[in-house]
Amino acid sequence: MTSISADMASFFQAVKQVNLLAPAFAIVCGDLVHRPDDVSFASFNAVRATCRVRLYAVPGERDVTLKLRNDAMDQFRSLIGSETFSFTHNGFRFIGIHSDLFKMPIPVETDNHLAWIEKELLQTRWDACKPVMVSHHPLFVERLDEPESWLNIPTAHRSQLWGLYRQYRVQAVLSGHLRRYAGIRLQDILMVTAESVTATMDQSPTGFRLWFSDGSRLTGCRFIPLYRRIPPENPVTPGTDITTQETAETCIANLRFLDAAKEWTGMLQGLSNNSEINPERLRDHVAGDIGQITCPDGGIYTLNPLGSDPACSVPGHVLPSVYAAQEPERRAVMQPMYRNRLLPAGLPVVESNTRPESGAQSRNALD
Ligand SMILES: [Zn+2]
Repeated sequence: MTSISADMASFFQAVKQVNLLAPAFAIVCGDLVHRPDDVSFASFNAVRATCRVRLYAVPGERDVTLKLRNDAMDQFRSLIGSETFSFTHNGFRFIGIHSDLFKMPIPVETDNHLAWIEKELLQTRWDACKPVMVSHHPLFVERLDEPESWLNIPTAHRSQLWGLYRQYRVQAVLSGHLRRYAGIRLQDILMVTAESVTATMDQSPTGFRLWFSDGSRLTGCRFIPLYRRIPPENPVTPGTDITTQETAETCIANLRFLDAAKEWTGMLQGLSNNSEINPERLRDHVAGDIGQITCPDGGIYTLNPLGSDPACSVPGHVLPSVYAAQEPERRAVMQPMYRNRLLPAGLPVVESNTRPESGAQSRNALD
């Protein structure tokens, strides 16, 4: 989370890539803005207007002032639209809920919302549609019975919602809020939290998830990195005294761009991990975005095959290990996900309520 202009640029890049991919529709899982003021919502709408596919959104706590009130919801409705949605596509019913009503319950509103969710789910039975829920907050992060925290939905409503999701055979619950990937499968329900297009919590690349279905089930999703070049916090200004730290940050920003541009190029060309990327093709696919990508210390860049980080010849100019900050048992699950993010429709998930062993392989939902 940086500034409105930086966030807008990231969102604009995401919309541009969505337009190129041309999916059936797109969904934003909440936190459309950082602060819910007119300027922020107008900025969101300005970028949204450039999206050529239908874009749905549910609110997150940032959109409703972190302290849910009716006037905040009215503001959201007038500037963005309804805070819920439901629509049918190819036999799936997508139901967007307003999870802040469970984080910060309002006596009558919250009960009404729960009744609406149940009514929507009941309708999927009549229509023989498979429900997919969309929510800003995930029901839980690791375990259904985990303690209440800022990250999950409080326990009472969590178990009510879980009961409904089970009863109506919900296929998947898509959420945001965490600003990092989390994939869990519990009792045949997939719970997937996607990365963020503005800033991720764990230094993983920013981007979004492209979902696939075969008409009867969601078959998987793949991570789509944004290939926008994000300026470092302390950019190097030519002609001034610059530190090694600053030049390294500038170079690492370049490496992040190259990493995402590589993956995007590989995806458009249908290449798999370990394939070499032709620099000319990369240039074609990110035309107009690449600009001057040179190391401020005169290092030489090596693209490296897909699935490996691009490198600079200057010591210390290295992309941070993506999940290095995570505890080892989680990293064992996350790392293969990151490395396999180019595999078609791969959706690695962890079975919930089982702690993965250190070094365990992630399970793939397609197995
Ligand atoms: Zn460098």
